[in-house]
Amino acid sequence: MTDHLTPPAAQAQADTQTQTFIAGLPKAELHVHHVGSASPRIVSALAARHPDSKVPTDIEALADYFTFTDFAHFVQVYLSVVDLIRTPDDVQLLTFEVARELARQNVRYAELTITPFSSTRRGIEERAFMAAIEDARKSAEAELGVVLRWCFDIPGEAGLEAAEETVRLATTDGIRPEGLVSFGLGGPEIGVPRPQFKPYFDRAIAAGLRSVPHAGETTGPETVWDALTHLRAERIGHGTSSAQDPKLLAHLAEHRIPLEVCPTSNIATRAVRTLDEHPIKQFVDAGVTVTINSDDPPMFGTDLNNEYAVAARLLGLDERGIAGLAKNAVEASFLDAAGKERVKAEIDAYTETWPAS
Ligand SMILES: [Zn+2]
Repeated sequence: MTDHLTPPAAQAQADTQTQTFIAGLPKAELHVHHVGSASPRIVSALAARHPDSKVPTDIEALADYFTFTDFAHFVQVYLSVVDLIRTPDDVQLLTFEVARELARQNVRYAELTITPFSSTRRGIEERAFMAAIEDARKSAEAELGVVLRWCFDIPGEAGLEAAEETVRLATTDGIRPEGLVSFGLGGPEIGVPRPQFKPYFDRAIAAGLRSVPHAGETTGPETVWDALTHLRAERIGHGTSSAQDPKLLAHLAEHRIPLEVCPTSNIATRAVRTLDEHPIKQFVDAGVTVTINSDDPPMFGTDLNNEYAVAARLLGLDERGIAGLAKNAVEASFLDAAGKERVKAEIDAYTETWPAS
């Protein structure tokens, strides 16, 4: 409680130092959406390819376009970006450029959530779609040093037809991409009960995929219980409302089910009123493993580095504590054991030499 005694100039310097530390810290990102990662720079490139769209190509105009005022506007922006992804080349460009944004932030490993149903329904041939993301994945690893893996998610609002299509794409030999590691469920939670998706998750899990549904973002802790019980969730996307249920927190801690926390997203979508009311500290105090993620970063005016800075402030962490969060994400990832050790060793090496002379 001595924060208020720190002279403002020293505080500002500490904040800058923390930001510099975070920017250089090797990181893993576990909850970030493919289309939702399209920055103004990427959208401009896509809009230039499709002049008939109403999306501006000027990057400054796009920045205004992206400053959304409420959730309905967010959905509108999101859908207009979806409309720009019309060919396998567009898919390749989007995916590779998203990897570039991740590499810029020293992200070494990312599980990117892709909704293939949105593209195949719009007429992109499924094998060409898979070839495009795989081509981007391989180029990103070779040229940018960022390892990508995929999570295919069901757009919950599109119902069971979308669930069937998503699980077919995720489990059929010859279609399923090599980089696919997990199966998710996104979209609205209200009016979209999790248990109805059990048969699809059962098939995905039987095919070797890990279960990572969104739950407890906009509905109560019972949705998180449903995700655990019916969908056999190994990590929970958001899980924000878990804070309302001490038994659930104890369960998540005991069974080492990590939460994919995305603080700024929770404010932008009004899942949480203000950052200071975010339950992240409650999760940590209850022994739950917390990972820091960015969700739909440009659409929420953030990036992963900023989410780490927010988390560091809310949790009162120094550099070692921040490095601990980064290691949580590596541990909670579906990277193989050798890959995890490699990234954790990089985090340790970076932290030990901090501050760099
Ligand atoms: Zn999400």
